[in-house]
Amino acid sequence: MHRRDFNLALLGALGAPALGHPRRPQPALRVNAERLLANLRTLGAIGMSETGAQRVAYSEADRAARALALDLMRRAGLDPYIDAAGNLIGRRAGTDPTLPPLLFGSHIDSVPNGGNYDGPVGSLSAIEVAATLAERGVRTRHPLEVVVFQNEEGGLVGSMGMIGGLTPALLERVSQSGMTIREGIAAIGGRPDELASASRKPGSIAAYLELHIEQGGTLDAGGVQIGVVEGIVGIGWWDVTIEGFANHAGTTPMDQRHDALLSAARFIQEVNRIVTAEPGRQVGTVGRIEARPGAPNVIPGLVQLSLELRDLDAAKIRALYERVDAAGQAIGRADGTTFSFRRTSENVPALSTPAVRDAIRGAAHELGLTTRDMPSGAGHDAQDMARIGPMGMIFIPSVGGISHSPKELSRPDDIANGANVLLHAVLALDGGAP
Ligand SMILES: [Zn+2]
Repeated sequence: MHRRDFNLALLGALGAPALGHPRRPQPALRVNAERLLANLRTLGAIGMSETGAQRVAYSEADRAARALALDLMRRAGLDPYIDAAGNLIGRRAGTDPTLPPLLFGSHIDSVPNGGNYDGPVGSLSAIEVAATLAERGVRTRHPLEVVVFQNEEGGLVGSMGMIGGLTPALLERVSQSGMTIREGIAAIGGRPDELASASRKPGSIAAYLELHIEQGGTLDAGGVQIGVVEGIVGIGWWDVTIEGFANHAGTTPMDQRHDALLSAARFIQEVNRIVTAEPGRQVGTVGRIEARPGAPNVIPGLVQLSLELRDLDAAKIRALYERVDAAGQAIGRADGTTFSFRRTSENVPALSTPAVRDAIRGAAHELGLTTRDMPSGAGHDAQDMARIGPMGMIFIPSVGGISHSPKELSRPDDIANGANVLLHAVLALDGGAP
């Protein structure tokens, strides 16, 4: 089933009136922005070095940051626990125990030499939303679960655990910390031998919401305050092999060459031309290239390069690929070289749910904020959660579009705006306090 239809079907199965139902307006309700920013500073100091944030999953700093998040959850009136996959989950009861939980959160682990906004903004805002609801005595119908996923940067490990996707092979993979995923899960209080208990079934959640920094420059450049994420792009990877004929670079006349690197150069131009030839936000990249034998005086006989295509629409990725493949074959015919393509990886697009998008957009507009619908070019835990329930993401601007860098920055006002949109989107999805 197409994911969009799947999500719509799920909404029906969940008793859709709960989602998108007009809630009792709480226009004056706002998070405590000073407290949120102070918590972000406290977390940001953990594992900070001269070259950026060093909170790779399972490291000492990651564990210290998780301990802080656990403490903040308690102070926000949440009842925290660690699931078998190592995710930190703070639960708050709803007034209707028959309803599935509304989940919202993000991650706090970083890449090596990372920043302090990718992950922490969404995680600490989610806790702040819970704290605000507790202080203001706002009850929700659905149980709420604030989630801090473990090891997002190492391949969406925690959210994979929540949808039952942690395979034995994945558990033995060595993470950035030097520990295997299995060892890491045990080190942070998870139970790698009981992973089934952390796995949730499709239809078992009311919705999943995630606030995150954009990590690109679209919102910042456009002066837009809130991004309503349409979905997380699909990513196709191919290895492309170009075979020519290696020969003497001094004695082979120019019209008798089968230069694989020259074909590769033409091919890279074609990829760029094909991807930009039509409207849309698709992107295509050749990011790696290797020519052999790799000597100044030998015509390159063999080139291997990578091809990556991304878009929200899997059919568009396929269509672009077919054009790129045909362009390769045409170049090969003209140059006397051969092109072969091997698919190495495919991530299908994860579309957000229209009702969740509406809740986010509505919350932002109620707060007087400007919005733009946009795809997420980066991967997020939300793409895993989309497989078990309705999903939506809120983006706030990244100054200069910089991320995965110590220079990563989001402005305090934008962070507060994002947290307030999360708060009101949660309330809208809940359908109003009884
Ligand atoms: Zn992130």
